[in-house]
Amino acid sequence: MLNSAPSARRALPSVDRLLNSSAITELTARYGRPLVVETVRTLLDESRAALAANAAAPAFDELAFIGACTARLHAQTAPSLRPVFNLTGTVLHTNLGRALMPKSAADAVAQAMTRPVNLEFDLGGGARGERDSHVERWLTKLTGAEAAAVVNNNAAAVYLTLNTLAFRKEVLVSRGELIEIGGAFRMPDIMARAGCKLVEVGTTNRTHLKDYAEAITPRTAAIMKVHTSNYAIQGFTAAVPEPELAALAHEHGLPFVVDLGSGMLVDLEQFGLPHEPTPHETLAHGAALVTFSGDKLLGGPQAGLIAGQKAFIGRIRKNPMKRALRVDKMTLAALETVLQLYANPERLKEELPTLKWLTRPFPDIDAQAKRVLPHVAAALAGRADARVVSCASQIGSGSLPVDLLSSAGIALTSIERKKGAFADKISAALRDLPVPVIGRIKDGAFIMDLRCLDDEAGFVAQLGELKIEKA
Ligand SMILES: *Cc1c(COP(=O)(O)O)cnc(C)c1O
Repeated sequence: MLNSAPSARRALPSVDRLLNSSAITELTARYGRPLVVETVRTLLDESRAALAANAAAPAFDELAFIGACTARLHAQTAPSLRPVFNLTGTVLHTNLGRALMPKSAADAVAQAMTRPVNLEFDLGGGARGERDSHVERWLTKLTGAEAAAVVNNNAAAVYLTLNTLAFRKEVLVSRGELIEIGGAFRMPDIMARAGCKLVEVGTTNRTHLKDYAEAITPRTAAIMKVHTSNYAIQGFTAAVPEPELAALAHEHGLPFVVDLGSGMLVDLEQFGLPHEPTPHETLAHGAALVTFSGDKLLGGPQAGLIAGQKAFIGRIRKNPMKRALRVDKMTLAALETVLQLYANPERLKEELPTLKWLTRPFPDIDAQAKRVLPHVAAALAGRADARVVSCASQIGSGSLPVDLLSSAGIALTSIERKKGAFADKISAALRDLPVPVIGRIKDGAFIMDLRCLDDEAGFVAQLGELKIEKA
């Protein structure tokens, strides 16, 4: 008995012998030799360690070993970035990739990826062109701005704007607007990195025009307003209207800069959604520059858009950091397509997925929940209770934080009296499906908000693969 382990270990085949077996040769053709050699070595090491640790471990089984190699290689080469079902109830979910884009944008991106394009080439004059020009004409048309520039995201847009306009100078911002967005973006930190000195004016809940006026010094380079998109101050509050701030800035020869966050290009009220300030309005109020995101309410690719006065945009383009923060041709291709959709606001609701999901009527979602319910209930029979519930979706990505959209979903609850870790367990099982299902946990129940369920058939079809123990 004591000798069986060393002899079993001795019985392990060599790497070379395994690599010459026909099953492994097939794997080599598919996955490439280096990855297969590495996997075979790793698994042999694991078998050796298992034999050493357990004298009673079964002898080497070549078929099982090849099966394990195949599974390991398959897992290793599966894409890390995968589609999921966003049933969180948050339409623009930052962790799930924010805006979904129309097929036409995906087609434009595929073209830009696979063929040479006139990215920085002026086809009219045959000379070097400006990469932002592909979207600038749309941005100026839609915002009323004289000029526009594009960078990697809105954080970069804010950084570049401040770095260009106020390097080593002071920027006035209301204390109530010193926001943090998604952990890594804090307005004061961005300002410091942009080389600007932040001058806080007013108090958290109230800021008046005279607070700004009294803070202006010869070192002031700009007055900034930040749209506090991810929280709302309610009750005894006061903020200075944009036209008054713009007039004050103008009086002192300073630019008034507004970070709009989402910055929807059209009035959302026409779609029955709450109002969100538009770049057009803010520029008409006298802002010199506005910045906003491409992948929030606008519904396009990740990008930071800067629109406003030509002289300032010109200086921003000349900042060496513009090069470091520039967007690639794929972003420009997607953005151009999405901006073009705004030329026809009547079609926007059908063509822009973000708006389609945000405006999806409750009866439509409720009907879908009732259709899907029996399939979910059958897949979880004996393990969980499933029922249709009313719930509230959020726009997400910091937009309109207090506004909720009425929606419908399916709630899963434990059939046991002891609820314990039920919601966590079901949540893990749903994440383990071929197309992971992401929902949310509320009061011990697992809620799937169906507002954004696009591929209903695909969702239902994979329910049979749910692996969760019986209660
Ligand atoms: C979201 C947001 C940002 C950051 O935008 P990203 O495009 O995510 O970089 C900056 N400011 C405000 C007000 C925002 O809402």
